[in-house]
Amino acid sequence: MATTKILIVEDEAPIREMIVFHLVRAGYETIEAADCRSARRLLADERPDLALIDWMLPDMSGLELTRMLKRDQGNEDLGIIMLTAKAEEYDKIAGLEGGADDYVTKPFSPRELLARIQAVLRRASSSDAEVITAGVLELDAAGHRVSVSGKEVRVGPTEYRLLRFLMTHSDRVYSRTQLLDRVWGANVYVEERTVDVHVRRLRKALGETGADSYIQTVRGAGYRFSTRIETDQ
Ligand code: CA
Repeated sequence: MATTKILIVEDEAPIREMIVFHLVRAGYETIEAADCRSARRLLADERPDLALIDWMLPDMSGLELTRMLKRDQGNEDLGIIMLTAKAEEYDKIAGLEGGADDYVTKPFSPRELLARIQAVLRRASSSDAEVITAGVLELDAAGHRVSVSGKEVRVGPTEYRLLRFLMTHSDRVYSRTQLLDRVWGANVYVEERTVDVHVRRLRKALGETGADSYIQTVRGAGYRFSTRIETDQ
């Protein structure tokens, strides 16, 4: 199997070196950039699988770089994790809406960073699967069926689409706006609280099975699908 290549965009050398040290030890190949300009060149030349992008960079913000990358052709499969010292909700949402897959708040532990990286990479490789499983939950994309521990659960068409999106994009937070764009479609006018209604229905449908706990509310940010029980904030 080819090694996974990760680009680290961070202007503070000690932090960059610390990240490189842990990623190399975990078996990843790393490339480094201290500003956005060299990051863009490396992205084009080296085609990394994932980029860790610091929020505060000398020539452009990490958020602007993320937005720019997501607009560029050929970066559809690039996973992006933002490194941020800002813990405010506003920044989290701005980063995710800018196209980042996840964010890690400084100071972070190497273990936390590696877990986030693995989750983003795992998601990228599982989004085409016909049968998606997560914990006790199974979604059969060909048959449009949802089952828990082998027993079929009836969900409406919107709940099905929502669940499929969440299962193929697990372990990251989506704002209501993002869910509307990705599940309902960017040109459909629906109120944000519609998302809450369908999340509630989905949880209710899964409620008797316990799998409803996979659909987690992240206060001030949105929703996340995860089989891990996390207490966020
Ligand atoms: Ca910085």
